[in-house]
Amino acid sequence: MEQHSTACPLDCPDLCGLTVSVENGRVVDIQGDRRGPITDGFICGKVRKFTDHLYGTDRIAAPLVRDGAKGSGLWRTVSWDDALTLIATRLQLIRATSGAEAIVPYHYGGSNGWLTDGGLAMRFFRRLGASNLDRTYCGAATTVATQGLYGRMPGVALEDYEHAKLIVLWGVNPAATSIHLVPVIDRARANGAKLVVVDPRATPLARRADLHLAVRPGADVPVALAAIHALFTRGHANRAFLAEHAAEVDELERRASAWSIEDASREAGLDPADLDAFVELYARSSPAVIRTGWGMERNRNGGSGIASVLALPAVAGKFGVRGGGYTMANNDAKWGVSAEAGIAEPTPPTRSINMSQITTALQTLTAPKIECLFVFNCNPVATAPDQRTLIEELRRDDLFVVVHDQVMTDTAALADIVLPATTFLEHRELRRGYGVMRMFDSPAVVAPVGEARSNNQLFGALLERLDMVRPGDAMTDEAIVAQVFASAPEGAALQAELAASAVATPSSGARPITFVDVLPGTPDQKIHLVPAELDREAPGGLYTYHPDPRSEEFPLALISPALATQISSTFGQLRSAQASLELSINDAAVRGIQTGDAIRVWNLHGEVHCIAKVASEIRDGVVVLPKGLWRKHTANGYTSNALIPPNVADLAGQATFNDARVQVARR
Ligand code: SF4
Repeated sequence: MEQHSTACPLDCPDLCGLTVSVENGRVVDIQGDRRGPITDGFICGKVRKFTDHLYGTDRIAAPLVRDGAKGSGLWRTVSWDDALTLIATRLQLIRATSGAEAIVPYHYGGSNGWLTDGGLAMRFFRRLGASNLDRTYCGAATTVATQGLYGRMPGVALEDYEHAKLIVLWGVNPAATSIHLVPVIDRARANGAKLVVVDPRATPLARRADLHLAVRPGADVPVALAAIHALFTRGHANRAFLAEHAAEVDELERRASAWSIEDASREAGLDPADLDAFVELYARSSPAVIRTGWGMERNRNGGSGIASVLALPAVAGKFGVRGGGYTMANNDAKWGVSAEAGIAEPTPPTRSINMSQITTALQTLTAPKIECLFVFNCNPVATAPDQRTLIEELRRDDLFVVVHDQVMTDTAALADIVLPATTFLEHRELRRGYGVMRMFDSPAVVAPVGEARSNNQLFGALLERLDMVRPGDAMTDEAIVAQVFASAPEGAALQAELAASAVATPSSGARPITFVDVLPGTPDQKIHLVPAELDREAPGGLYTYHPDPRSEEFPLALISPALATQISSTFGQLRSAQASLELSINDAAVRGIQTGDAIRVWNLHGEVHCIAKVASEIRDGVVVLPKGLWRKHTANGYTSNALIPPNVADLAGQATFNDARVQVARR
């Protein structure tokens, strides 16, 4: 038995170091190590059972070409050479007849590192002149809102939550999506910290919190603005801090004055006494940290919601102490080196397509029409809005669909060509955390299953086939990594740190104290509470609240949180349980629904047939159907994505996965 050190590059903020046991060339055990600051020797069940994914029956072992109608399940195994020839020939034909913008790369985090979430794929599609893709499933609104207010400024390190006296979890459920934060929160509470959870659901942490604000989905703006208004009017605003470090203070104060505690509570469905208690607790606690999650940005008000919540620590002056301030969902650090240097290929001035509106693009774009969707690191049938339309479009005979994936996903099942991809244990990865502020170099620990190839191997081969390799191009993982580290003065030290321990810390420090070690990354290093650019972009201006769109026909707000057993749709093939829609006791009673009933959930975009689960954790007016489910998990082959319209939030084209309105009835 051999033991190898590597790291988990999956889309998760915890960034665990791993010890992988290998016997006779096969992975037999995966455990967490202690190289990262919060893993503490244990990992989630998802990765502990990764061998089920690695060696499962759904794993794709060789290139496949469809041998019947799309989606028929009939495939012919071909060699990589033949598959690459077919793809290269078709791409060249499309480029020659319609232009390369007719080709759309469709990709997301996948294994989420610098080598697989970009790399030669980006060089290939950029050099080809394909359409660009705006990646807006997660973090688009959060990123622009945070950078508008603070520039690029690292937030509170997860390990520093232990120092906080108040922890506010706003639209995030670490028990499912960042399990190592839970013991840190518990240690803080043992030291006297209070916990507030803002979430429409009574999550496990909400149930044992000191205060739970079960806001209606999309009503975070009035709640945060009312809190800001109360901080100003009750003398809790830190005006000295604001005078020194913030701009547009008066304008924020003016806009927040539109919301009283009572009005905001009515809109959000809260008890005004609870919102009042939150304001007083927040004002009087230090250090106080707010952790924002993805839940809040995924609605019509998502950008303004994030901005208003992140304005709270500025108004109350919560920075300047360890454990005080905010941690946004995609907390970042200053690394001094960037993955772009490894690709060395500028983004072409070709059109951009919002991945959350891919169905609209497939249906309406002309000059040129989309003729090829090249999918990698992504399973859009399970993750994109407007699922019913997407499935219809993927079935089009005039749309050439290539999927590079590890297992036969719902999207791969509708492809023309499916290529086998390596997992993170079979290729090298370089990954910086977006929760834990570290970087890991994670080597492959076993040979690939079957003929699986990494993204860089696939797109390196296509660059060669289409004669697009230029002198000096870094073409191997090693050469790309070397180019990344050679791109900036900090690179050599980072590389040396990685060589010594396989984990590196950023130039801004792994646990910076904001306004002590780091300042806002805005040009004047001030906080901009009403940044002009965001104010222009948001319909009606930043902090505008667009009311709840519920109607008599569709009165229930559908939210789609993450499953604890999956990373979005990844590992969905391993789930056998059928999907359950959770609804409140009252909403179930008026519809005559009981747990276990076969139900239908529908709106104008689609319909899902699943099982009812009546749950006391769900507030009235809200129903929950998890994200990431596969078609086999419902009775009619559609998931929550079939109910999600291709609408976008107020900033950055953000997807609105938590903003559908639906009706529910027994089947
Ligand atoms: S998914 Fe998250 S918790 Fe699980 S091993 Fe990876 S980093 Fe750790």
